[in-house]
Amino acid sequence: MKKSVLDFTKDELSQIVKPSFRAKQLYHWIYQKYANSFEEMKNIPKDIKEQLSDNYILNPLEIVKIEESSDGSKKYLFRLTDGFTIESVLLPMKKEKVDEDGKIIHLSKYSICVSSQVGCKIGCAFCLTAKEGFKRDLTPGEIIAQVLEIKKDNDIAQNRRVNIVYMGMGEPLDNINNLAKAIEIFKDPEGLAIGARRQTISTSGLSAQIEKLGKMNLGVLLAISLHAVDDELREKLMPINRAYNIESVINAVRSFPIDARKRVMFEYLVMKGLNDDIKSAKKLVKLLSGIRAKVNLIYFNPYPNSPFQRPSQKDMFEFKEYLNNHSVLCTIRQSKGLDISAACGQLYSSQP
Ligand code: SF4
Repeated sequence: MKKSVLDFTKDELSQIVKPSFRAKQLYHWIYQKYANSFEEMKNIPKDIKEQLSDNYILNPLEIVKIEESSDGSKKYLFRLTDGFTIESVLLPMKKEKVDEDGKIIHLSKYSICVSSQVGCKIGCAFCLTAKEGFKRDLTPGEIIAQVLEIKKDNDIAQNRRVNIVYMGMGEPLDNINNLAKAIEIFKDPEGLAIGARRQTISTSGLSAQIEKLGKMNLGVLLAISLHAVDDELREKLMPINRAYNIESVINAVRSFPIDARKRVMFEYLVMKGLNDDIKSAKKLVKLLSGIRAKVNLIYFNPYPNSPFQRPSQKDMFEFKEYLNNHSVLCTIRQSKGLDISAACGQLYSSQP
């Protein structure tokens, strides 16, 4: 199977197309002009275009289906070249605002939630992706292409920054090398120019990989899916806790390089009667002491036959207040895309 040119950094491309300034031109066509084929790259000589199309493909994904939520989020189902499918979600974070004279006050802001694997090995009890089992890792190009295709499809210009959250299908740190390469390619100022601080890696808490990522010093942000404050419950929700318990995750976070202006995000999926009480909130405060943390409380979104239930608004609010009153920054995240199963833990590459 042919590789995609999106799998390569600019330096690597300059080894493939000579002279090396051609790599810059190629990058320009791909990431700034959103070219859909090698043929349309006008200033690239014919022999190089032939060399490229004989040996590589440009786009490793095709859009199979787009579902739009009433809140404006869009879920994309993509088919990969080997027929597997993955999902990604465009999340509008802020709408464009214009004043009375039609002048734009601020532009709309977007986050794109991308997948890192086809399926997942981690097997979290609350997650639909887990039900599918693990098929394979995504290549760097397949990670890049999700953002590129969504930007193209929504006419989001190259210079309009987007945030990336690695929170779709798969455990990103279980595919750490391809992920790290994708992060570098995203960062390239001559490519999509998405800085490290606009990229958040959300992990189920693979402590050893968190330490490895920290040593890579990529400058990315970290989000930990914690969900429980005692090992017994966390093991039931996330079997990975048997290998990496809460203490090891927190220790790994303490050694992770965090920008002084940023915080580590702790995702806490709240399930009625399981982890929504003040006792859990107290334990959470203790666990996070000394960490520049922000806790995101997420309502559990029941799916057909799910064994867990959505907590009450009152319990969520009291939990949040307790944390905020005890010096732990905490917000309740409104899961976007609920009506199209695009919310946290609901991505599943169901065929159209
Ligand atoms: S929640 Fe994330 S890590 Fe857990 S099974 Fe689902 S995709 Fe994998």
